[in-house]
Amino acid sequence: MSNAPIIGHYIHGQVLDSSSERFSNVFNPATGSVQARVGLASQKTVDEAVASALKAFPGWSEQSSLRRSRVMFKFKELLDQHHDELAEIISREHGKVFSDAKGEVTRGIEIVEYACGAPNLLKTEFSDNIGGGIDNWNLRQPLGVCAGVTPFNFPVMVPLWMIPLALITGNCFILKPSERDPSASVLMARLLSEAGLPDGVFNVVQGDKTAVDALLQHPDIEAISFVGSTPIAEYIHQQATSRGKRVQALGGAKNHMIVMPDADLDQAADALIGAAYGSAGERCMAISIAVAVGDVGDSLIAKLLPRIDQLKVGNGLKGDSDMGPLVTAEHKAKVEGFIDEGVAQGAQLIVDGRHFKVPGAENGFFVGATLFDNVTTEMSIYQQEIFGPVLGIVRVPDFASAVALINAHEFGNGVSCFTRDGGIARAFARTIKVGMVGINVPIPVPMAWHSFGGWKRSLFGDHHAYGEEGIRFYSRYKSVMQRWPDSIAKGPEFSMPTAN
Ligand code: NAD
Repeated sequence: MSNAPIIGHYIHGQVLDSSSERFSNVFNPATGSVQARVGLASQKTVDEAVASALKAFPGWSEQSSLRRSRVMFKFKELLDQHHDELAEIISREHGKVFSDAKGEVTRGIEIVEYACGAPNLLKTEFSDNIGGGIDNWNLRQPLGVCAGVTPFNFPVMVPLWMIPLALITGNCFILKPSERDPSASVLMARLLSEAGLPDGVFNVVQGDKTAVDALLQHPDIEAISFVGSTPIAEYIHQQATSRGKRVQALGGAKNHMIVMPDADLDQAADALIGAAYGSAGERCMAISIAVAVGDVGDSLIAKLLPRIDQLKVGNGLKGDSDMGPLVTAEHKAKVEGFIDEGVAQGAQLIVDGRHFKVPGAENGFFVGATLFDNVTTEMSIYQQEIFGPVLGIVRVPDFASAVALINAHEFGNGVSCFTRDGGIARAFARTIKVGMVGINVPIPVPMAWHSFGGWKRSLFGDHHAYGEEGIRFYSRYKSVMQRWPDSIAKGPEFSMPTAN
């Protein structure tokens, strides 16, 4: 195991793989074996990264937005060239199947494409002659050094929700990726350097809580973007705001999909299979609860069962698997623990994914697709995020009960409703207390020029991620008023200035 390669930090254009005193194992979840070790940053390493970013900030923030966008154009080209390589890295460390990993990279590249429009995105407003020879306009200026802390489940896409917009707005950025699948971050750092980004503008510190706390406590970090579980999101938000930092902290989820009696059940069942079991349920937008309205429950289950039977579970880099393993042995045990609890608490286990073995990969962290019926709101499998391939069915009498159920849940990330009724669809979109809504769309992840974020305990802070919200988050608004000396001097004015 000591021969396992070391994944290092990336500071000031250099990979540092010998500076860590602590390491964490990086597994191949499909085989269960350790394939690398990642260095865990100390306070000193974080200080080095911040110092490098601070040094780079004056030069980078003074670059024109057009120059910054040119780096993004080149970065996008390089990401395209390395698309398969990135997807393979994701699949090998996270476990998701290769086609899904390719889709993740594509969704990340879309944010880079959006950021290529930097000059237009940063264009601001100007009011000519507001009165007395004065003009008024606004600027969007960079914050300084910003940091991002990201989860294991999208090691390329989620960092790319942050990096392109933080950089085009003129900031320097430090990424602390998940220690469970850290390799993609170093490749992206190399590609950014190759794209012409000056040293120090983008740094990667690998690590755990020690590194995150060092970033939270560092006086020169102006803003933190976080994506991960709700307890950590809340912690990050509290710690960073108490130190006067700007924060967006996206947390966990429990996404419901309402199936109305008039829905196309084949479509609804296909959507549920993909949204519940795709990426082994390790998506913050995964559907984990199907809300069966009226008498649709039995017919829905009849449609789901053959589809579950046909699911191919295996190594994401081999064959044509639909679903890969979970990320670690600990996470597999946690998901199986939830299934045990569901049974103990009285839910009806229709398909049991525990003790699932893939022939030839018996040590992989696999859990098979699992289906519960008659889930109720008191059960832990209803209340908590499982983050595994476990779908529960809750039966309710009518649409109003379905909406009330979802609105009462502590999370509000994504939601979906399958129906053929336009009135129901409209009422659903307007009244549901969830940040991202799909109508006959199971996983409504917004496009790059819209913004991503949940409501309730799925997001702490004021800004959603990327899109216009991202530009606002990473820039500071400044209003400028200007009058030139040849304007008519009136002498001192003591009343509140007005336009007339
Ligand atoms: P996590 O909260 O365990 O870890 C996220 C990051 O926080 C990692 O970089 C990790 O190193 C760091 N971290 C972990 N414990 C910490 C601590 N005690 N103090 C400081 N930092 C700590 O999340 P995860 O398991 O990597 O990812 C899965 C979670 O992320 C799920 O809850 C999922 O819903 C959520 N997620 C949310 C979104 C969203 O947009 N809302 C998107 C993706 C994932």
